[in-house]
Amino acid sequence: MLEDQRWAAKIFSSGWQPGSGTLDVVEPATGAPLGRTGLADAADVAAASAAAAAAQPAWAAASILDRAAVLRRAAGILEQHLAEITEQLIRETGSVPGKAGFELGLALRTLLDAAGLPSLAQGEVLPTAGDRWSFARRIPIGVVGVISPFNSPIVLGLRSVAPALALGNAVLLKPDPRTPIAGGVILARLFEEAGLPEGLLHVLPGGAETGQAVVRAAEVQMISFTGSAATGRQVGELAAAQLKKTHLELGGKNSVLVLPGADLAKAASAAAFASFFHQGQVCMSAGRILVPEAQHDEFVELLCAAADRLTAGDPRLADSDLGPLIDARQLARIKSIVADSVADGARIRTGGETAGLFMQPLVLSGLRPEHRAWQAEIFGPVAPVMGYRDLDQAVDLVNATEYGLSTSILGDVGTAMRLADRIRSGIVHINEQTIDDEPNVPFGGTGASGNGTRFGGAAANLEAYTETQWLTVRSEIADYPF
Ligand code: NAD
Repeated sequence: MLEDQRWAAKIFSSGWQPGSGTLDVVEPATGAPLGRTGLADAADVAAASAAAAAAQPAWAAASILDRAAVLRRAAGILEQHLAEITEQLIRETGSVPGKAGFELGLALRTLLDAAGLPSLAQGEVLPTAGDRWSFARRIPIGVVGVISPFNSPIVLGLRSVAPALALGNAVLLKPDPRTPIAGGVILARLFEEAGLPEGLLHVLPGGAETGQAVVRAAEVQMISFTGSAATGRQVGELAAAQLKKTHLELGGKNSVLVLPGADLAKAASAAAFASFFHQGQVCMSAGRILVPEAQHDEFVELLCAAADRLTAGDPRLADSDLGPLIDARQLARIKSIVADSVADGARIRTGGETAGLFMQPLVLSGLRPEHRAWQAEIFGPVAPVMGYRDLDQAVDLVNATEYGLSTSILGDVGTAMRLADRIRSGIVHINEQTIDDEPNVPFGGTGASGNGTRFGGAAANLEAYTETQWLTVRSEIADYPF
């Protein structure tokens, strides 16, 4: 898949082509070079966009069997090369094998589910007052721009690329410049090997400028963006000025709410997983852990014990539970959020030691709602814990954030169901932690976690990657008074 190096120093745009420059890819665990991709500038993006628009109509008109077959073949190629792709994902993104397995399992299901999209009903027959037939039918959008983040770059790219292609669109994909092989080259190679006709998928590595060029590109009619709320706002503004449809999937400040009477040992294990899985670099990671005041101290001890059992190290080594953070800037940001909160009175209960980009999982207590660690999305292995007086206060604390992505409620199911009615969150898990996804569920957030769009499931994908055309038909040309 990657070994023949046809992709090295190239962008994927009507075949492998030189871009405007190159991007060096580094393994965060070791600093070792992992390869070099091409870098796309605005001119590369404009050329890709025009080529995509030229290739798209024939693809939209292709047999549904042909479109489905490309998706199925891409799934087969992913399975065939699973070991190599897993290794690349581990090294490039600092994922431990369990996280890589979760991501690639989702990626495979995403491709297989997308293969079913072309044969779904693409519209409705509408009742009409006229002497005619009236239909609402789904047609492809045309060219879709996809901008993806570093943390789970394969599945977060594929969850847009696969349904968009399946439904007859062409796609421009801009992966994060820190993970352009996993987030870009691998997707290009999958579809290249699967026989996707040339010009339908363009992989354009680069940073903010390349992303802006994708949003601006004349032929791009829709943007599917996954990343931070700050960047999402900029992308949303730029796209809105050009009247382009946007799907924004952004950050989170997700709560784990432990109910009175819950099994504390199990709750601490769930909270540890939600806080520390993939070093806390998941949009659904727990950013707030709420425990009844009476159980606070015992819970913090259990959570600290769970944190202390974890080792941050090279994800290729069997005893590493956490890999490295993606880069030094991210680590510095995490440290500054913790330091600010400690200066304001929070207490580090365990962890926080760093070596290179590795950070031991950290538990914070003594927090107040205004503390930065309680307010900001940390995106690192930090678990802020707070005690609550009663359930009303707990609900207020959960809802007191601009975000609304995922919430976990642990304990009595009846109580949890009643609280779920009062919690503003796109996702609620009862007796499970905050991090999960399946390609057939309506995944997405409220508030600053997104603009209300949903990923996954046939209905959401049809809504996202098609437009609706009103089509009427009469058996003869109608009579008019003019
Ligand atoms: P980011 O917003 O900095 O970057 C995301 C992508 O946008 C990258 O490809 C980046 O190169 C690109 N980009 C940056 N500036 C841009 C601009 N001005 N115009 C266009 N594109 C631009 O995100 P990050 O901090 O690297 O990623 C982590 C964030 O992503 C977290 O906030 C996390 O919660 C969020 N995330 C959300 C989901 C979700 O499904 N809701 C999933 C994963 C990550």
